Amino acid sequence: MVVLRAFDNYFLANIILTKLRDAGIECYLKDEYMVTIDPILSNAIGGIKLVVKKEIEEEARAMLYTFDNEYKENSTCPNCGSHDIVLLPKQSMENMITAVASWLFSTYAVSAENIYKCKHCGFESEELPETNRN
Ligand SMILES: [Zn+2]
Repeated sequence: MVVLRAFDNYFLANIILTKLRDAGIECYLKDEYMVTIDPILSNAIGGIKLVVKKEIEEEARAMLYTFDNEYKENSTCPNCGSHDIVLLPKQSMENMITAVASWLFSTYAVSAENIYKCKHCGFESEELPETNRN
């Protein structure tokens, strides 16, 4: 198995996993459980790793590249028009409490909030700013 990409974001990792599987790529998430339980520890172990079999590595990488481009083309900053939008976890105390509470109550999915941020002008949005397709 080879590591295609490492994620520090549980949701993003799952989105990519689902997309690849839909495209017929057999892939898995590694260390998913650790990251979900302990978001701080995830930095220490290098995040959630998306792994595939060596034989299909190139095919999977090509697919990932396509997804990345699609993602960029579909997101446009409403402020400056840049396509350089990244998904970031909201760093707040509220999030930490949510994470701890989820752990205490054994909720599987940690509902950490994410924001989309324009790398160009710093514009932040809760929703992915999508290009109008008229
Ligand atoms: Zn912008």
